[in-house]
Amino acid sequence: MEFSVINTSLSNQNIKPTQDISEYERLIAKDLQALSDKSIPVSSCPCCGSTKFQKSFEKLNWTYNQCSQCRTLFTENCLSAESIRTFFTTSEARRHWFDKIWNQTGPYRKSNIIEPLLSWVEQTLLDTFEGRKDLRIADLFPHNWGIAEVWSENSYSFDYSILSPMYPGDLAPAFNKDVSVKSVERAESLFDGILLFDVLGRSADFDKLFSTVAENLKPGGLCFGTTLLSTGFDVMVLGKHSNLIYPPDRFRMPSFEGIEALVKKYPLEIVEFSTPGVLDVQNVSKALDSGITFGNSWMEYAFTKRRSPEMEASFQEFLQTNRLSSHGRFALRKT
Ligand SMILES: [Zn+2]
Repeated sequence: MEFSVINTSLSNQNIKPTQDISEYERLIAKDLQALSDKSIPVSSCPCCGSTKFQKSFEKLNWTYNQCSQCRTLFTENCLSAESIRTFFTTSEARRHWFDKIWNQTGPYRKSNIIEPLLSWVEQTLLDTFEGRKDLRIADLFPHNWGIAEVWSENSYSFDYSILSPMYPGDLAPAFNKDVSVKSVERAESLFDGILLFDVLGRSADFDKLFSTVAENLKPGGLCFGTTLLSTGFDVMVLGKHSNLIYPPDRFRMPSFEGIEALVKKYPLEIVEFSTPGVLDVQNVSKALDSGITFGNSWMEYAFTKRRSPEMEASFQEFLQTNRLSSHGRFALRKT
């Protein structure tokens, strides 16, 4: 299993303008309240299937449980796939996200997050398929059109389709190239690659999701995914104080071990698993500066008295090297 360490700098303020994110969270709480009668109890870990778990914390009145076996975090109730789609395609919160947050942060996100991801996808495909240029890629359940825009504006060598987008169609921009948009049920032919970026967190059913991936990939084809991990540093240290965690964007946060357990159930194998996140240390330092305490005196000492730019950089590199950062990425091969 390969892994990568990524040298890039990201700034929280450029991704999440504080005021607009606060408003987004306020709207999420309101929109989720309207869907509350549709919530369904979750009786087992969505990754490993264990029925042993314990309460971890609450966020926006939703309780998060943690699997005792694989440490995956998941809400004690979830919404159906249909209700999640309703939220992502019609809610006021998502309108706010596109009108305010995407409008402000889209260009930064595209050049600092999406372009590096698509370069990783392209390079891995070229290496795997010995330079073939006629490859077909499907973007599965995207919740914004950032990847389509970046693909449309650049000269990537693969053919690109969107399957079952999770954003309001009337807001989507026109693209420079033809983008095929279909429902996953009408995909018609198999793909050489499937993109699964930030989909797990808002998926109602991991088993159905991974079946869909396996069914739509050619043998030897690759699935490229990203997810927030429960085993990442800032998620584990900050818990409910983390501004990365809120339903329904993050109903579920699989662990490293949870993804390993999940993948084994399907004709898929992990070829790369990395945690290229670069914001863990920034997030923890920021939380300490705002007065949040963790009840861990070593952590508080290290991140206040001994903090320096060099210490932060080397700690973040340690997290990446040991797959302990919160933002994970994986490549799976259809066997
Ligand atoms: Zn589990």
